[in-house]
Amino acid sequence: MIAITLPDGSVKHFDAGVTPMDVAKNISEGFARNVISASFNKETIETGTPLMTDGSLILYTWNNDEGKKAFWHSSAHILAQALEELYPGIKLTIGPAIENGFYYDVDFGEHNITEKDLKEVEDKMLELARGKHEFSLREASKAEALDYYRNQGNEYKVELIENLEDGTITFCDHSTFTDLCRGGHIPNTGIIKAIKLMNIAGAYWRGDEKNKQLTRIYGISFPKQKDLTEYLQLLEEAKKRDHRKLGRELELFTFSQKVGQGLPLWLPKGAALRERLENFLKKAQKKAGYEMVVTPHIGQKELYVTSGHYAKYGADSFQPIKTPSEGEEFLLKPMNCPHHCEIFNSKAWSYKDLPKRFAEFGTVYRYEQSGELHGLTRVRGFTQDDAHIFCTPDQLDAEFKNVIDLVLYVFGSLGFENFSTQVSLRDPNTPEKYIGSLENWEKAEKAIINATESKGLDYKIEYGEAAFYGPKLDFMVKDAIGRSWQLGTIQVDYNLPERFELEYKGSDNEMHRPVMIHRAPFGSMERFIAILLEHTGGNFPLWLTPAQVTILSLSEKYEIYSQKVLNLLENDEIRALVDNRNETIGKKIRDAEMNKIPYMLIVGEQEEKDGTVSVRKHGEGDLGVMTLEAFSALIQQGVKNEMIEFNV
Ligand SMILES: [Zn+2]
Ligand SMILES: [Zn+2]
Repeated sequence: MIAITLPDGSVKHFDAGVTPMDVAKNISEGFARNVISASFNKETIETGTPLMTDGSLILYTWNNDEGKKAFWHSSAHILAQALEELYPGIKLTIGPAIENGFYYDVDFGEHNITEKDLKEVEDKMLELARGKHEFSLREASKAEALDYYRNQGNEYKVELIENLEDGTITFCDHSTFTDLCRGGHIPNTGIIKAIKLMNIAGAYWRGDEKNKQLTRIYGISFPKQKDLTEYLQLLEEAKKRDHRKLGRELELFTFSQKVGQGLPLWLPKGAALRERLENFLKKAQKKAGYEMVVTPHIGQKELYVTSGHYAKYGADSFQPIKTPSEGEEFLLKPMNCPHHCEIFNSKAWSYKDLPKRFAEFGTVYRYEQSGELHGLTRVRGFTQDDAHIFCTPDQLDAEFKNVIDLVLYVFGSLGFENFSTQVSLRDPNTPEKYIGSLENWEKAEKAIINATESKGLDYKIEYGEAAFYGPKLDFMVKDAIGRSWQLGTIQVDYNLPERFELEYKGSDNEMHRPVMIHRAPFGSMERFIAILLEHTGGNFPLWLTPAQVTILSLSEKYEIYSQKVLNLLENDEIRALVDNRNETIGKKIRDAEMNKIPYMLIVGEQEEKDGTVSVRKHGEGDLGVMTLEAFSALIQQGVKNEMIEFNV
């Protein structure tokens, strides 16, 4: 008998040789029908693999990421099989599961494939899937595996196998198809009910442009047709909200090949939006006891050698800048923390001075490969809404609560209602991996959990996910169409105070090391604005949006009155503009709707005579005639309703 431990901690006994699917059936037949993959002692296995020892078994369904991975990995095999049947003689290379679906990189040789052909491949895949073929994994010797692909003339698989160790090589067979594969499949192909091949792209073998260019086919598959339909609808919606498209349409930011990839250029409207966001946070931070600091965009290489950033990222990032002086080297600032540590070091502190909270909208530069760059979410230069708190271990609890309050204030005022948090702690089994005393770690971990709990946040704990220098709390927000984005982080750090020899005099008159907290509620201005654009679809909250109001004159005759309305609104600090173009009112309204301006004021003869405006709301239509005072009050109330209270 072997003992199988399930995720809920229960232990069941079975004869050796029992398979994960047998265990699933033992739990319930209904559950077993949904099980599509499994892991044993943290290793991915097949649902039909016989279990021979005691261990921990996890059974996955479509609702788990691991289940989806097995589903899409298996779908890639079917794609390869379909391609081989339709295009004999092609050479298969690699075909992994990815975040959303799977792809296969293929050398099509003499064949030519275009997106028009994908439908035929999809149909072939569905036909093959319907055969309910089981996947079975078999071991092969290195010689045998090399032989198999040498006979096919597939130099790609031969190269892959040459880099594998004998005794670790497995093949996967299903139906008439065989592929080199490490395993992790669904029980049979019949579970795959809906398939969509998304697009074709070029990809170099092993990602190296010196190598041959292959054809990459991307696809996604689902256990139900309905899931595919919903996914395609979501993609459509996401396309409309793509921040790169909206950023262009709303004239917020641009990129220039001449300036350089991944270096955003903020246009006047975008810069104004950023400024409002910064001011909003600055005001809250001031209230919460932060002090603004400013540090340069570069620092001596030695600074980052001290901080450890150079050892970790130096080789793969922007290279040092040399000066005419021999041996002098500077680095573009990858993080603000080392600079802030030196600000702390500029003065002697007593425990009575702490906590010190230094904040900076600090621009940092990190090298990203050009293929990794994406709009504003992956860039090479960005501005963090950064701050570092230096405190005593006993102050951690209160500081953590304050930071959480600030983060919740930011989310609330920007309309992010759904979010979750993750607390990342040490792996208790490997204490040697972490810097800092056990006592301090316990204090810090307790402080994070206490603070998170006392704020009523929904959180999950991940053991072993903490950085070596301290535990952290991450915020993930769900946007309006259900996608999750990682936003702000609060991170405890015992490492940098050590490396920079930070000190304060304690009540015992001895010198002590402060604890450092890194925190950035937005993450970065670039990433945050991108997510806000995708969340709101460009319909920013009234308090933040570039123009709150546009005044549309019925004809040139009302230009003077339009100007008067504008001046009165500006006196009330309402952001307005006038559209006096010689266009029809219908066209002016359409353009204002396109630019997502929340309110339109139509002015003509009657309005001028009565000193009123006709109000239209974006996406809603006519709100009727109002006096200017009433309209101004409406905007001010609207802004007030959006901004939650920030009490510290
Ligand atoms: Zn496989
Ligand atoms: Zn930092």
